[in-house]
Amino acid sequence: MATQKARILIVGGGFGGLFTALDLGDAGEVTLITPEDHFLFKPLLYEYLSGEVEAWHIAPNYKELLSDKIRVLHGAVAEIDFEARELEVAGRVRRLGYDVLVLAVGGVTNFWNVEGAEKYTLPFRKLEHADVIRRRMIQALDRIPPERAPQDVRRALTFAVVGGGASGVELSSKMADLLNDAIRRRALSGEARVMVIEMGDQLVPGMGEEIRTFVEDALKKARVEVHTGTRVVRVTETSLTFEHEGEQTEVETAGVVWVAGVRMNPLVEELSLEKERRGMILIRDTFQTKRYDEVFALGDIAYYEAAAPSLAGTAQLAFQEATLVARNIKALLSGRELQTKHFEELGEAVSLGTERAAVLAGKKAMGGALARQARFALYTSRLPTWHHRLKVGASWFFEGTTPRPLGLEREDDAPRIS
Ligand SMILES: Cc1cc2nc3c(=O)[nH]c(=O)nc-3n(C[C@H](O)[C@H](O)[C@H](O)COP(=O)(O)OP(=O)(O)OC[C@H]3O[C@@H](n4cnc5c(N)ncnc54)[C@H](O)[C@@H]3O)c2cc1C
Repeated sequence: MATQKARILIVGGGFGGLFTALDLGDAGEVTLITPEDHFLFKPLLYEYLSGEVEAWHIAPNYKELLSDKIRVLHGAVAEIDFEARELEVAGRVRRLGYDVLVLAVGGVTNFWNVEGAEKYTLPFRKLEHADVIRRRMIQALDRIPPERAPQDVRRALTFAVVGGGASGVELSSKMADLLNDAIRRRALSGEARVMVIEMGDQLVPGMGEEIRTFVEDALKKARVEVHTGTRVVRVTETSLTFEHEGEQTEVETAGVVWVAGVRMNPLVEELSLEKERRGMILIRDTFQTKRYDEVFALGDIAYYEAAAPSLAGTAQLAFQEATLVARNIKALLSGRELQTKHFEELGEAVSLGTERAAVLAGKKAMGGALARQARFALYTSRLPTWHHRLKVGASWFFEGTTPRPLGLEREDDAPRIS
């Protein structure tokens, strides 16, 4: 393969795909295929919901990040023919041929076939999802007439977050802080009811005890109602039914957010590649797929056995893998030996409401307002490209990261999906 002429197709523009493209530079004729026009730094989606950060901070357009030498093709890959080395992008007649293919399509929300969940709950993986949740909270507040009794306010502002992992904790504490702040600003009485519902017997099961203390304390302060050992059995437009110790309870809700799991991307389900039992693609230590030297897979869809279990399904693993994949593609194209690598745990950071966070670095955990600042500093360093990091870092430093109260919307805050 001649290095300059190699056609490298990268499918998916998230942590795995974008960072591979950035590291590849002009190592070949690189095309990034992805449905959106922007990258999304998902760990800060909670701060976008609360208005602590702006869309441009966490969702820069690919054009801003990538050099002109890298082509961005908007669309979803629908089919791949590994023997012919070509793929089909939905809605396009011409198939695209490749010399090297990188698969980085990530996961999708898993509704676990719970009745009504896919239809009525709100997922949380994209900017539009955060817009819809924010809007739903404002609509619920706007429907409350002045001078309502506290119990009526509580009923009208009942939200449930399903899934008690880091996402559920971060989301429920942000929502509770935002709603209770709006109650004060509107001079309403009482408080919102934000529930987090988890099937297991504890929240954030993957996290260590050091950080859990901060999490539990912050949820108490944010007045989030925690239901562990509880299974959601049904969701309707206006209610949620859950089961705890064999007893079912139906609660009237203004909104239910679903962060109860991730499942395999439907494209990956269709691919004739070797996979492990959950459907993740089996790869070699070099991130090449088992059967095809020229096909690489990384991020949430790739099963890399040597990665620590706590790193699986994380952005920090995906972007470290991207560096190796880019290096190995260059090696493959120039006939050099491909490498493997040990991936580091880069620490954990969870936001806890609009005022606090918890950060675990090394074996040391810290919490509170200082941890919130540390989390912003940490994530500034992880944003893609120096240029973007500098712009965003300066904006956070000079303009601050104060939350935007519910109802104080920007003009361009019209919802992107209904
Ligand atoms: C709300 C939220 C918060 C998170 N917070 C953290 C955190 O704090 N720390 C952490 O380490 N991890 C976090 N994660 C997990 C982390 O975001 C993922 O592990 C990481 O994004 C995986 O990278 P990826 O490249 O595999 O997939 P993704 O980043 O999900 O990217 C997949 C890309 O593929 C595109 N795509 C999908 N299907 C197709 C198709 N058919 N054709 C073309 N393109 C396609 C998608 O549109 C997307 O651009 C969070 C996840 C979420 C949802």
